[in-house]
Amino acid sequence: MNIYGMTLKDLENYFLDIGEKKFKAIQVYDWLYKKRVSSFDEMSNIKKSVIDRLKKDFSMEDIKVLKVQNGKDVHKYLFELSDLSKVEAVLMNHDYGNSLCVSTQVGCNMGCAFCESGRLKKVRNLEAYEMVLQILNVEEDLKIRISHVVLMGIGEPFDNYDNVMKFIDIINSDFGIAIGARHITVSTCGIVPKIREFTKEKRQVNLAISLHAPNDEIRNKIMKINKVYPLKEVMNAVRDYLKVNNRKVTFEYIMLKDINDSDECALELAFLLKGMMAYVNLIPYNETSHIEFKKTDRDKIMHFYDILKKNKINVTVRREFGSEVSAACGQLRSNFEEGK
Ligand code: SAH
Repeated sequence: MNIYGMTLKDLENYFLDIGEKKFKAIQVYDWLYKKRVSSFDEMSNIKKSVIDRLKKDFSMEDIKVLKVQNGKDVHKYLFELSDLSKVEAVLMNHDYGNSLCVSTQVGCNMGCAFCESGRLKKVRNLEAYEMVLQILNVEEDLKIRISHVVLMGIGEPFDNYDNVMKFIDIINSDFGIAIGARHITVSTCGIVPKIREFTKEKRQVNLAISLHAPNDEIRNKIMKINKVYPLKEVMNAVRDYLKVNNRKVTFEYIMLKDINDSDECALELAFLLKGMMAYVNLIPYNETSHIEFKKTDRDKIMHFYDILKKNKINVTVRREFGSEVSAACGQLRSNFEEGK
């Protein structure tokens, strides 16, 4: 068991189980996440017998930074895990803080036609500690504090639900990295039963839905998952989420040339979201050499934006990060695996 995969509650229960006081969990969290030690021996306010027990029961093994690519306001990391699997994380400097895009799986099975991550099928889920260590490594390397976390790296967070919720609990704890729930965003391609499960948890975490199309006809062509959970079911689940949580939902919409960027699409999207507490984030497509989709021209993106605005939809265009560092979701890993 890796210690970075323990929630504060898990650690408290562990200490109670071994006949120790539960406040030791807070002390350990302090060493791990505030003081950032790299060995149990450095935890100097914990007695030797407990340190020995911790060493026996837990590992503190780190993940390895294999490669870093630095661009303007963007830093892209390729990590190697203990089984030699590779995943990526991308740090973006925004004016409001530093945001890290974290991977949740090795590969992805959702098979979205435009996405590089899914070209290499899912190998396995990431454990919570492997997500936590992405954050710690980037903070250490850049000597910064990360203020925002988005689960938009390789993988589908809701296809690794339990580990992802554990990860959120760990990084959200005030005694740990203390990233506020409202600064954490989970993004899903639309796994309806998990959206419903997430709704019941009433977390303050932000929910983003990768919509990418205003109707089933287009969505079926670019997102395989739509054949399992069609648009209507996704929208019903989101409506129920909004009723229960009173939080806004972001809909991500990649602009793909001649696929989903027409005026009719904009109008249909506006109609679909009418009256909802929704934000639309228009994403300029990050082209990759393996996939034939092209990005919509800037003018056309702005025209699409205007149509949504006119129809009273809250909309933003995502700032483009990282095209110079192969930051299209999953690109660094797939280039590496293919020896480029
Ligand atoms: N599986 C989750 C999270 C990972 S993908 C999801 O689907 O939401 C994070 C976001 O990046 C998704 O909206 C995804 O559709 C988008 N994306 C994937 N490839 C992209 C590319 N080449 N350019 C721009 N956005 C991309």
